[in-house]
Amino acid sequence: MSYDYTEIVPYLLHWYDRNARILAWRENPKPYYVWVSEIMLQQTRVEAVKGYFDRFITELPDIRALAEAEEEVLLKLWEGLGYYNRVRNMQKAARIVMEDYGGELPADYEALKKLPGIGSYTAGAIASIAYGIAEPSVDGNLLRVLKRIAASYDDITKEKVKKELEEDLRRIMPKDRPGDFNQSLMELGATVCIPNGKPLCEQCPVMHLCKAFKNGCEQELPVKPKKKERRIEERTVFVMKQGTVGKQEIALKKRPAKGLLSGLWELPNVDGYLTKDEVRSIFPKSEITRLPDGKHIFSHVEWRMRCYEVLLKELKEETVMKEEIHFFTKKEIEERISLPSAFDCCKKYL
Ligand code: SF4
Repeated sequence: MSYDYTEIVPYLLHWYDRNARILAWRENPKPYYVWVSEIMLQQTRVEAVKGYFDRFITELPDIRALAEAEEEVLLKLWEGLGYYNRVRNMQKAARIVMEDYGGELPADYEALKKLPGIGSYTAGAIASIAYGIAEPSVDGNLLRVLKRIAASYDDITKEKVKKELEEDLRRIMPKDRPGDFNQSLMELGATVCIPNGKPLCEQCPVMHLCKAFKNGCEQELPVKPKKKERRIEERTVFVMKQGTVGKQEIALKKRPAKGLLSGLWELPNVDGYLTKDEVRSIFPKSEITRLPDGKHIFSHVEWRMRCYEVLLKELKEETVMKEEIHFFTKKEIEERISLPSAFDCCKKYL
């Protein structure tokens, strides 16, 4: 059911004017900066994004630079952020913007939404913050805050609920400060009406209007059905090295073009847990050392990894890896290869 949020607007803007954190993309809200920051913020907290943002903008200062960047450069800049398809989509969108819009993101909500990787949330953020267009920017963060204010038990994972909330906000958005209004809600969700745990209601500028606070149900909201349990995959990962100490090279292979970590470099690995004897049967002449186990959690899958260092003497003919692997020095990997954080457990043994 629709809820009238009109009354929260002045309180939120007043609070935002006094409490907004100073952030590079807020100080200079160029459309490109807002876009980059919002895509990064979809997966990481503000504090962590600052460093990534600065590095990205220094390396690729505008849409042309993003459109023309080599894939390895792009992926290296994204290393550690995960969800690499997001940056690949940004590049696809940048190329369209160069081709169709003369290198400037369109100042048009609907046109923004047609670009790869830009959904209603990001389109609303760019339109409102960079161009002053009164469009909402609703993500899980805003859904939490607003459903608490309304004490609504709607399931926030439903697209219909999000669409209704966008309509509710469209009706009340201040035409003179739409970007600040969206950002005040984002900021409130990030710093006061926080997820996982008790929100800081005593510091909240709309506490007196918040129905969840009044009813004491703020921690029950928002409602979202439990996610399906993650699938567990057991893998054996090899830190394969060749060459003498000081001149060693490490084996990497490319993942398939589709699916998890598509097209990225990885440490060679196989399904299941192999014992040391089984590893020795693959690399009979090599020196094999068991490394600490690792674990990495993706959204739907969890990898549990048994890791071995393999000092190669030669690669056995029939090993499937032989065809696919490439060797790099540690320096090359550090400087230009993006090795997904799934392999962090092995990085110190490279
Ligand atoms: Fe969130 Fe509490 Fe503020 Fe309500 S009063 S919006 S629950 S922080």
